[in-house]
Amino acid sequence: MIRTATCRCGGCLIEVQGEPIANLVCHCSSCKRRTGGPCGWTVTFRRDQVLARRWAFSIYESDGTIGRVVNSFCSVCGTTLLFAPADFPDIIGCAGGCFVDDPVGEPTVSASDDLRCAWLQLPQGWDVRTSALAERANGAAPDG
Ligand SMILES: [Zn+2]
Ligand SMILES: [Zn+2]
Repeated sequence: MIRTATCRCGGCLIEVQGEPIANLVCHCSSCKRRTGGPCGWTVTFRRDQVLARRWAFSIYESDGTIGRVVNSFCSVCGTTLLFAPADFPDIIGCAGGCFVDDPVGEPTVSASDDLRCAWLQLPQGWDVRTSALAERANGAAPDG
């Protein structure tokens, strides 16, 4: 199956083939700020699953629990559509909510769940993961 994800204005588009490697929501501060929502929704694919792109992307880099990430966002509407973690060069993360016409299905992982908004309840059965270990390992403040 080929799915299309677009930014809000439609200026940026990607096509991906096959099923995601991972389908997760993340509650870290980085994902909250990136989306403006209570969590980020990320689906990951191998780079060779990304068939086509069209963009007016701009780029910024950020640090989080998975290390340095290159974020590609639409320079017109601001939607961050793609994230490329430096430590996982074969993987591309895509904003799950941007697959509006070709839904990617229900996430199975709640990442940085200890940072989840207290009012946000998740379905049963997801793999719940904490951010604490990563924060401790980095000796960093809980900032993604
Ligand atoms: Zn746009
Ligand atoms: Zn996150």
